[in-house]
Amino acid sequence: RRWGWSLAGELRQAAARDPGRPAVIDEHGAELTYQELLDRSERVARSLRAGLGVQAGDRVGVLCRNHHGLIETVVAATLLGADAVLVNTGLSAAQLATVAEEQALRVLVHDDDFTERLLGLPAELPRIDERALADLVTAAPPGELQPPERDGRIIVLTSGTTGTPKGARRPTPNGFGPLVSIIDRIPLHARDRVMIAAPLFHTWGYAALQVSFALRATIVLHRRFDPAATLTALGTQGCDALFAVPVMLQRLLEVPIPDPRPTLKVVAVSGSALPGGLAHRFMNTFGDVLYNLYGSTEVSWASIATPPDLRQAPTTAGRPPHGTRLAILDDTGAPVPDGRVGRILVGNEMLFEGYTSGLRRETHDGLLDTGDLGRINAEGLLFVDGRADDMIVSGGENVFPSEVEDLIAQLPQVREAAVIGVPDDEYGQRLAAFLALQPGETLDPEAVREYVRHYLARFSVPRDVVFVKYLPRNATGKVLARELRRYYG
Ligand code: ATP
Repeated sequence: RRWGWSLAGELRQAAARDPGRPAVIDEHGAELTYQELLDRSERVARSLRAGLGVQAGDRVGVLCRNHHGLIETVVAATLLGADAVLVNTGLSAAQLATVAEEQALRVLVHDDDFTERLLGLPAELPRIDERALADLVTAAPPGELQPPERDGRIIVLTSGTTGTPKGARRPTPNGFGPLVSIIDRIPLHARDRVMIAAPLFHTWGYAALQVSFALRATIVLHRRFDPAATLTALGTQGCDALFAVPVMLQRLLEVPIPDPRPTLKVVAVSGSALPGGLAHRFMNTFGDVLYNLYGSTEVSWASIATPPDLRQAPTTAGRPPHGTRLAILDDTGAPVPDGRVGRILVGNEMLFEGYTSGLRRETHDGLLDTGDLGRINAEGLLFVDGRADDMIVSGGENVFPSEVEDLIAQLPQVREAAVIGVPDDEYGQRLAAFLALQPGETLDPEAVREYVRHYLARFSVPRDVVFVKYLPRNATGKVLARELRRYYG
């Protein structure tokens, strides 16, 4: 057997060709070269095998923030032919217990911050905290690792926005093609310094890691995203690119620009919709460097908007990269004309292989239904309107929360806005807007309604306007509509 294409395979090649190139740098400037990262990962693998008997087919849970230990554990698991299950750090203790059971974890590697949340896990599940992980590296038994009898897989959990997170098996990319499809559109190069602020456990952060490895770039990882510290580090750590989620850009715009000013050539975001107005505000401050990728745990990435696309249409998700097919279909499965809204289906080499629960992946003619609604305009630009399940039907009219949210967010007093549908005796559903205001601001609910009434149809006007301190978000910055619904009991 040979080593297949994987993060581990890529790391071996990088270490063979560019052993001394820095692979990972942390927030304190500590560096590991590609060779060191490989050595450490192999040590973790040998220790996991010798100490815990981890072998091909086992599942190793990884509950870590962004640091090299996460990469080492993932690589170690796959070197043994085991699967690495990337666990969302935002899960509650109860969700973690469910995930550990459903994924039949053999061992859990975790950061110390999460120790308290592990109380509900079965006592017999071995846990490896940060100290123990460091010991796996230093006290590893000697020996050579042979290619395992099966390829280790990466299992990414969905965000759980709509329920319990599902484990999605990622495909082992068939060669380089899918990764090249990103690099083809986004000007990243070997030797670039890439900060990955999006969580590595999420499909987007993991994609960023794959791309960076394939390029042999140097990855800057901070455990936490802190707007002021991150912005400063982008300059002082000499970053060329930033991979983030949209809400992080909003936060970066709220802090003063440091000196030295970061000089970024690429800022790539994905994971949730880019709020209206954000693209221009961001590019006016940091230059025309913004790329918006649409994707999901199930389809990886499906379309890319470049800075010129975003200048022209600030909320677009752009065009499919080479090798990806996009279709907008109606409920009967027929294509809808340009500009009309329908279900978004995606076909590419990066479609997930299935859920670990056994729930099957269903494709139609090789295309996967994303569950999102959207449209493609005459220029071929994709616009994602949101999840079909989040669409509000009020008095028989369809309203997309994003349209109303984007409008309300333009009010100068508003820091951020979220709109949901709530049950209504008369209209079936009515709109409720949750607003977090800028510090020190106040706003009259009627002024909000008046503003929306001015631009949108009557049925798009939120009847309820609720002021909150902040919007509840998951670890990737997506607003949790189900938490907002709780307000209504
Ligand atoms: P769960 O499936 O457990 O409910 P989730 O779907 O929120 O979780 P992800 O796979 O992280 O988990 O989210 C993918 C979804 O995020 C997409 O289907 C889409 O609705 C939204 N999304 C991602 N990127 C973009 C983007 N660039 N523009 C608009 N929407 C986006």
